[in-house]
Amino acid sequence: MNKTVLITGSTSGIGLGIAQQFAKEGYNIMFHGLEANGQAIANDIAKTHHIKVGFSNANLLQPEAIEHLVTKTIDTFGSLHVLVNNAGIQFVSPIEDFPNHKYENIIAINMNAAFYASKAAWKQMKTQNFGRIINVSSVHGLRASEFKSAYVTAKHGVIGMTKVLALEGAEFNITCNAICPGYVKTPLVEGQIKDQAKAHSMTEDEVVEKVMLKKQAVKQFVPIEAIADMAILLAKDNSTTITGTSFALDGGWSAQ
Ligand code: NAD
Repeated sequence: MNKTVLITGSTSGIGLGIAQQFAKEGYNIMFHGLEANGQAIANDIAKTHHIKVGFSNANLLQPEAIEHLVTKTIDTFGSLHVLVNNAGIQFVSPIEDFPNHKYENIIAINMNAAFYASKAAWKQMKTQNFGRIINVSSVHGLRASEFKSAYVTAKHGVIGMTKVLALEGAEFNITCNAICPGYVKTPLVEGQIKDQAKAHSMTEDEVVEKVMLKKQAVKQFVPIEAIADMAILLAKDNSTTITGTSFALDGGWSAQ
């Protein structure tokens, strides 16, 4: 029987890379994201890898929509083995100018959505006596940077939640872990490069070198494939004892 994975934000960036790796492993996948071509992305991957897929554009700002996304996954595939809470947004501003609605949306999408999705998946995972919850946090779940008050708060919160779910899931073979990437070149970061170039009056290359990769000892963006490989490892049957932990894939940033 093919296992089922639901990956939020899997029609772009890191989530899409994770989905491609799970597809290679033969998982059935519930794709999710706001990209207009989401269904087409899902269909292409299904064809290439001979897997079953679904697609949802549920808005993660709405708890009922998240519950429905999880229910739809279980109804479609009859199971839910792996939940990857990946979707996220970013906004950068000094605190005194930080718009309240931007703060609230970052907390809702980057942190609260992981709670609602995990809560909705819990009963099914308990019944299966198998569950793997993988939260895509960030090096900003372990370290702070100025002007990212909402993002750093949400990503630290996700790591706290990861530990609690690991404790609660232990007796049901439900594990929960966080992956904490440094900078990864995705649409989310490409937007930041442009914004920071404007803010610092620098070229985009200078932003990458002097701002983004400044704290990464390895002066490279983190490859999406490395994050996807880590997710595959955490999802394995024999990863039961790997739980409650955060894995930094950050080029040595948090070693400092
Ligand atoms: P991305 O912008 O490429 O993808 C984000 C996904 O989230 C998209 O599919 C988008 O549609 C979805 N999404 C956003 N708001 C949504 C909403 N309201 N409802 C439903 N879906 C919504 O971003 P990415 O860089 O691939 O980021 C993925 C995750 O990785 C995020 O949690 C991000 O914080 C984290 N992360 C990224 C980096 C990086 O450098 N790119 C580093 C560390 C952590």
